[in-house]
Parts: sequence; structure tokens; C-alpha cells
Amino acid sequence: MSGVVATVERVRLVQREWGKRPAAERGAALTAAAQRVHAARDELIALAVREVGKPVTEATAELDRTVAILRYYAQQVFDPAGAVFEPTGTGLLYTRRRPRGVAGLITPWNFPFAIPVWKAAPALAAGNGVVLKPAPQATACAIRLFDLLAGALPEGLVAVVPGYATEGQVLTSTTDVVSFTGSVHAGTVVAARAVTTGIPVQAEMGGHNPAIVLPDADLDRAARHIVAAAYGFAGQKCTATRRIISVGAATEPLREALLMAIDELPCGDPADPKTACGPVIDEAARVRLLAAAQEVREAGGFVLAGGTASDNLVAPVLAGGLSEGHALARHETFGPFCLLQSAADLPTAVAMANSGTYGLVSAVYTADLGNALHLVDELHTGLVKVNAPSTGVDFHLPFGGAKASSYGPPEQGKTAMDFYTAVRTVTVQAN
Ligand code: NAD
Repeated sequence: MSGVVATVERVRLVQREWGKRPAAERGAALTAAAQRVHAARDELIALAVREVGKPVTEATAELDRTVAILRYYAQQVFDPAGAVFEPTGTGLLYTRRRPRGVAGLITPWNFPFAIPVWKAAPALAAGNGVVLKPAPQATACAIRLFDLLAGALPEGLVAVVPGYATEGQVLTSTTDVVSFTGSVHAGTVVAARAVTTGIPVQAEMGGHNPAIVLPDADLDRAARHIVAAAYGFAGQKCTATRRIISVGAATEPLREALLMAIDELPCGDPADPKTACGPVIDEAARVRLLAAAQEVREAGGFVLAGGTASDNLVAPVLAGGLSEGHALARHETFGPFCLLQSAADLPTAVAMANSGTYGLVSAVYTADLGNALHLVDELHTGLVKVNAPSTGVDFHLPFGGAKASSYGPPEQGKTAMDFYTAVRTVTVQAN
């Protein structure tokens, strides 16, 4: 572990100088970083397809978003870094935001470029150094990405420390700010450690994301959205739809529309541009998903689709008939696994959607604006999508969940610049 500690200290030495550089210089460096990543576009896309099995069309979208995020934060350096207030007496009263120091980033494997960059870019723009501990399954993506970023930045300002939980834990006691994305289990440990050592921390974690479908919705369109959101990239997104709550008369026709959409979903080789649902990340995930389908049957539920696999290609599972208290009905099963539930009326659907510990994203399908706005207010999730898939994130807006899905301030957008800076309140009086 002494290697990780030494890396943090080396980055800290370089950061002291970087934090003093003019905003325009930091912005220019991030623009150059965006150009370097863009120039390596094809290579990086192929790497993500190979290393984490991301379907090439999604990998391409992720890579392009990564470049856009770098360009966005390259401009944020010119935003105000504080505010001037009326003094209580004479003189000047103002706030000024300053970089925190070294940002420790702990990331999952499912967005091997976008997540490291949506943390690193605002951290660097604000004048911090960065140490990234990527998921072991995405180490090659992280190392190549940071190679490219490093070429545009002062030598030693960014570093990757490959490894596992132990390496991640070191960052929670040696850096100046910690940003984590991953499972609730690991995020809770990371947040607790950082709080204990007094380091500001944010943790973005899992979800058990509901899609509520009302009878007045365009059910075929809703089914196509839901199937894409539940099973795209084999359901390996924190924002994937995990539960479909059909309300009243929607149940029968929606079930048929879902089964048809699943049937038409292109599954297979992630290198094929037509593929939407590729393999799961590893053998352990395959075993876990097949066991979950089996558990549904043993608990008296039904499996309407999927539950089989060929190598790591797990056929999308649509299941239901579980009691509300069953573990599979309450916790994220990270993969192509989605539950179909029904509610007699809207209040019951809201209560079902809000039950449980997660609160990342919900989707609502209806033609009634009043119902849509009512649900936006009533659903306890950080994001609400109306007539839109639960997946898909806009990088210029805050991103974060409610309840156990998140700890600390949200990520992305301008909020991120606040997280990676500390406020000084300054009082100046004439001598
Ligand atoms: P994971 O929690 O297993 O690992 C995430 C990262 O944390 C990895 O780098 C891992 O090595 C590290 N880690 C694990 N235990 C740790 C510990 N005790 N201390 C410090 N670091 C530790 O998650 P994963 O399998 O890589 O990713 C899938 C999970 O991530 C899912 O639950 C998914 O919902 C979640 N996720 C959330 C978001 C979001 O923004 N909310 C985005 C993507 C993925």
C-alpha cells in the first residue's frame, strides 16, 4: 500500500503548482486532453468492446460523451469562483473557491471512460491533482485514458493506481477529496472511511429503478424504451430499468408489447454495431443471473423470458410474481434482469416505486401531463424521466440519487466544480 501513498504524495507536489496556474492555462490543457482522447477514438472504442464487452454502438457514444465532458469543463474554468457581498462595515467581503488538493477517484467498470472523466475533468479544472483507482475489470481502459490525459497536463498531475478494495481504501485516508461510483456495499464503506478521516466524499451507487406505465401511455413505445433501458449493455448500468410497474388496464397489453420488444432486441457479439445486449462482464455475473432466475421460480414467481445463457451471453430475463418483500424485488440485480409488477391504481404504484432503500432514477409513461407532474413530485428518486428511458444522463446537469443510492453532493454539471473546491470567506478592511 505504500506505493499508493507515495503516488498520492507525488501528485500532491505537482498539484501545488497546478493550483496556482491561470484559469486559461487549465482550460487549454483540458481542451488539449479532449483532442488527444478524440484522436485515439477508434483505439479506445475497440478497447472498451474488448475489455468490458460494451456493445460498440454504446462504446462509441460513451467515447464521444467523454470528449464532450472534457470540452465542457475546459470552459468551466471561466465561471465565477466566488461572489462579492455587501460588507457589514467598510471594506470588501467576498468568497473565493480554492482547489482542495488531490482528488481520489474510485470507479466501476461499466463506463470505463465517461465516469473517470466526469470526475477527473472538474477536479482538474478546479486546480486539483487526480489519483484514479479504477475497477480491476477496466484497468486497461483506465491506464490508456490517463496516458492520453497526462500528455496534455503537467507531468505527474494525474496517476492511476490499479488494484482492488485495499488500494481504494488507501485513497479514503490519504487524499483531500474522494469521489466514488459503484455498488451500495462498497460505497457505504468508502463514505464511512472518508467521513471518519474528515475527507469530503461523494458516493454514487446502485439503483432498483422503477418504470411506471399508465394505461393511457403509448404502450408499444413504452415497451421499446423499457426493453432498451433494462437490457441495453446487458442491463449493466446503474440507471437500467429494474422494475416495471404497470397500472390497472396497462398490464395485459404491456406484457405482450414487452415480450415482442425483447424478442426483437439484438443480442450477441459486442463488436457488431447492431448488438444492443452483449455479454455480462464475467462468469460470476452469469452464474449470479441464472441463479436469480431460478430463485424466482423457486419462490413461486414466473419467468416470462430469458433465464438461459450461452457462455456469458445471458438471455434478457423478464420475471414477476414475487412478493414485495422478496430480496430480488428489493435489491439491484446487476445485469439483464427486470421484474414485471402491477398496481391497481396510481397511489399503489407510487408506494411500490418508493418502497425499498434505493432512489436513483424512475421513469414514467403517460399521456396525461397532470399525472406526469404529480409523479415527478411524488417519486423519491434523484432523476425522473417522463416518457423517456431511465438510462441516459446529461453531463451538464447535476446527477445523483436519493436514499441509499447516493451519499454527498451530486456529480456532473456545475455542481461538480463546487465539490472539488473549498470556499474561503474573505474580509478585507483598509489598513
Ligand atoms: P463495485 O462496488 O464492486 O466497485 C466499484 C469500485 O470500488 C471498484 O474500483 C472497486 O475496486 C472499488 N471497491 C470495491 N470495494 C471497495 C472498498 N471496500 N473500498 C474501496 N474501494 C472499493 O462496483 P462495480 O461492480 O465495479 O460496478 C457496478 C456497480 O456500480 C453497480 O451497483 C452499479 O449500479 C453501480 N454504478 C453506479 C453508478 C452511479 O452513478 N450511480 C454508475 C455506474 C455504476
